[in-house]
Amino acid sequence: MPNTTNPSQPSFFVESFGDIKILRYKVSHFDEMDLNRKLLIYYLSRASLAGRDIIYDQNYKYNLLIRKTLEAIYENYSGDREHPQFKKFLVYLKTLWYNNGIHHHFSKEKNMPEFNQDYFAHLIRETGIYKLQHLFNSLEEAVARLKPLLFDENVAPKAMEQDAAKDMIQHSANNFYEGVTQKESEDYYARLKEKDKRLSWGLNSRLVKENGTLVEKTWKEGGLYGEAISEIIRWLEKALDYAETQQQSQWLKALIEYYRTGDLQKFDEYNLQWVKDTQSIVDLINGFIETYEDPLGLKGTWESILHVQDPEATERTQLLSRNAQWFEDHAPIDQRFKKASVKGVSASVVEVAMLGGESYPTTPIGVNLPNADWIRKEHGSKSITLNNISRAHHEAMMESGFLEEFAFNSEEVARSKKYGFEGNNLHTDLHECLGHGSGQLLEGVSGDALKNYASPIEEARADLFALYYMMDRKMIDLGITSTLETARAQYEGYIRNGMMTQLTRVKPGKNLEQAHMRNRQLIARWCFEKGAERLDDGESVIEYKQKDGRTFIVINDYERLWELFGELLAEIQRIKSEGDYQAARDLVVTYGTRVDPDLHQEVLDRFRKLNIAPFTGFINPVYEPVEEDGEIKDVRIRYDEGYAGQMMRYSREFSFLAAEEGSEEID
Ligand code: ZN
Repeated sequence: MPNTTNPSQPSFFVESFGDIKILRYKVSHFDEMDLNRKLLIYYLSRASLAGRDIIYDQNYKYNLLIRKTLEAIYENYSGDREHPQFKKFLVYLKTLWYNNGIHHHFSKEKNMPEFNQDYFAHLIRETGIYKLQHLFNSLEEAVARLKPLLFDENVAPKAMEQDAAKDMIQHSANNFYEGVTQKESEDYYARLKEKDKRLSWGLNSRLVKENGTLVEKTWKEGGLYGEAISEIIRWLEKALDYAETQQQSQWLKALIEYYRTGDLQKFDEYNLQWVKDTQSIVDLINGFIETYEDPLGLKGTWESILHVQDPEATERTQLLSRNAQWFEDHAPIDQRFKKASVKGVSASVVEVAMLGGESYPTTPIGVNLPNADWIRKEHGSKSITLNNISRAHHEAMMESGFLEEFAFNSEEVARSKKYGFEGNNLHTDLHECLGHGSGQLLEGVSGDALKNYASPIEEARADLFALYYMMDRKMIDLGITSTLETARAQYEGYIRNGMMTQLTRVKPGKNLEQAHMRNRQLIARWCFEKGAERLDDGESVIEYKQKDGRTFIVINDYERLWELFGELLAEIQRIKSEGDYQAARDLVVTYGTRVDPDLHQEVLDRFRKLNIAPFTGFINPVYEPVEEDGEIKDVRIRYDEGYAGQMMRYSREFSFLAAEEGSEEID
């Protein structure tokens, strides 16, 4: 797809390239905030951007070198910028920014350039050594080093390998381990786990073999990534002066302390303080948090999500939280796996104010933290749903013709247009507020017993919890929705996505790799199979139907599908509670990974005709302090920055790591 900027698109559309579209989110009511809150947001937004380089280096050790070289070309190349090869170069660079590196964010595979190697050498030469001398000694060296990194598909083919038959550590290009085997890493952390079951061992370090010994190199001030971390600390300290509540100061201080020391005990202290803060309107997720990118599920990728509470919508989720115990008690799972008392499930609907690291430019629509099971059990967790992000997603989709193409009939289309957004939100709320926090592990079962299948199983569990309760009368009794049409719209959308439409994001011949995609197909396909010929008249609960030579997936009985969701929830909860690795593996492999190639091709063909980019990223607003006599009198928000402009500005203002470790860049 060519680069297009269509003026008829609504204001949240920025541009599209390759199979990616970039949208813009808005922060409502920023202008009406008082100066104190504006400054708090401003400083925390800087802390959200200061760690940007970290995620590039975590994803692959040469990502920064590659990004910096390509940006130097982008800025300085004076040849024909309208040349078809240059346009392909642009798409490659924009895609690299989108993925925070050379590997695809979802498939984990290396993104291959469409411009050719000779052209690349030409770009390097034309840019000239003067503009590249901080990275290379000569132009020849630049070409010789970068060519294989970009063009050789055998060099670092995958960011993360999830095939358990291989050594997943040695086959992953990401930068969490160096010179160690999977077995060595597993043994190393198993020994640490024996010392203390609670700590998030390995979360903030690279495990390296040096002279035959395993050493952890910690990401902290003065350690690995220290230059970027010092900057994060600097902005967090400024934000401290504008903290809204005592509790907010507490966790900000604890976070700073953790960044200073790299001590995982301090990380837990920070989480304990953070989870208690339910009063602050402005809140921040910032640090080495999610472990999806590590095949062993230990290493945290750096991310930041700064957000502001949306008070009206938050009332809805607080209603769910207040009733958390009712949901736990009535869940269709074995009594032994239920929590006797569900504590402190807090939930808020928020608007994102700044995205950084792993969460930029692709961002989740809901988050539940902290991840440590024992903290969740004893102190609860905080859930947020990102309202301005999901609204932008939804509106973009509604106008694209996508629904009309893949929904079976006009009734489904109408239901989705009327109740789809509400249904999505309710799903996210239930998933985040109640789903992840529900259930418990049996005594003695380790939180990482499911290893590489832990993420899809946990996501499936939270999704099923949401799908199950959406159709419950309780939703109407609580006044959360006025009709179960909301649930029907969600069931249709979910099954359609899990069985068909999410395949638009998978290349032909490939299987599913990403945890959320695996779990969605797992659920849909399991229900499809278990519901086959299960109705009284021999019909199936869900079935494929053909119309005008096209395939559709249709739900014949919503009540029975509801039951199936309950049955699968019971099984998935059992797997998690008992730590049944074999069963987790069987479920994910049987239902969650393999793709029907014919259907896949059909979906891709139909999708291509719609000309919609399947992947979405978001750009941030610009916060601009207004100074008078050396004092900030106001902070303005602007939405006029473009995608490449924003990326290049971030690279100028927030690049604190050297292109390669141990090298000194000369500026
Ligand atoms: Zn989740």
